[in-house]
Amino acid sequence: MKKDCIKVSKQKGEPVRRLLLELELLDNSAKINSDPGYLYLPLTRIPDDTELELLNENESIELSEADFEEHEGIPRIEDLLENVPHFEIVGDIVLIESDVPEPEKVADAIMTIKPNVKTVLAAISPVEGEFRTRRFKTIAGENRTWTTHKEYGCRYHVDLEKAYFTPRLATERARIVKQINEGETVVDMFAGVGPYSIPIAKNSPAKKVIAIDKNPFAVEFLRKNIELNSVEDIEAIEGDANIEAEKFAAVADHVIMNLPHNAHQFLDAAIKLCAPQATIHYYDITPDDDLFEGAVELIGKAAENAGRSIEIIQERVVRSYAPHQYNVCIEVKVL
Ligand code: SAM
Repeated sequence: MKKDCIKVSKQKGEPVRRLLLELELLDNSAKINSDPGYLYLPLTRIPDDTELELLNENESIELSEADFEEHEGIPRIEDLLENVPHFEIVGDIVLIESDVPEPEKVADAIMTIKPNVKTVLAAISPVEGEFRTRRFKTIAGENRTWTTHKEYGCRYHVDLEKAYFTPRLATERARIVKQINEGETVVDMFAGVGPYSIPIAKNSPAKKVIAIDKNPFAVEFLRKNIELNSVEDIEAIEGDANIEAEKFAAVADHVIMNLPHNAHQFLDAAIKLCAPQATIHYYDITPDDDLFEGAVELIGKAAENAGRSIEIIQERVVRSYAPHQYNVCIEVKVL
């Protein structure tokens, strides 16, 4: 059966496969094809321009067409449901949105095709409040919101109602881990349960990670996850990033600011944390008519107020967030 696909060199195939999965672009009904040099990854649809930009960013890929064999014996969700809703998998829990029609039927179909899933939850609130949490209703399976999620060789205990966690940023987090050099100190100002801090401590040559979060439950899970992953050199701190930053003036070679919508309120503190030449990884949600400019201006002003200046390293779209809104990452050097 002929299908649209992404052609990528074998060495670069795995990150591209993961990104396609995250973007829900990988067609799991077909077997991945290969020749001696390349992988052919079957697509559910042609990626849009932003998705292609993301896919092309680190690895050079090509849109192509190839023959694929179907997986036998495994029912496809499309065979069980007329309309397949968006869903996310965290550990053995599947999350669907609250407005999905016939949620029990959807949950049954998901549990049929994914036997490892033990619980299907529907979100009954948006991501809300200072701690960016959501509330859920159990649609099928075990009545719980806690699980253990695996990502890039790390494991995370998380309770989805008590602390923020999304599997959607896995590739983005891996991209940050790759940027950390020997002996560097990283401050993760909004660490959550640790999905940036833990892989940095485990898989990069960082000297030390300072991981701050205001949500006591998030920090409780962060501490459990430090233990679960047997990582050292992480200092987990429960507190307000603006206040805690005061104690670590000029220590950071990297500052991670993963609090989209509100990170601008912490820019003065972030600049204070920066050693000369440090990098700030600043996340925001921005409209498509001002993806980067407004946010860069805010970062520049905060630097200027502290008698410092910035150089832009990179501006990138991480994922689409809502119609005409994007989750972006801006990386600047603070001089
Ligand atoms: N970095 C984590 C991740 O990728 O899963 C968590 C990101 S979540 C979007 C933002 C986090 O910032 C939440 O865990 C929230 O509790 C924390 N937070 C909110 N306000 C804060 C503050 N003033 N100081 C420190 N942490 C804060």
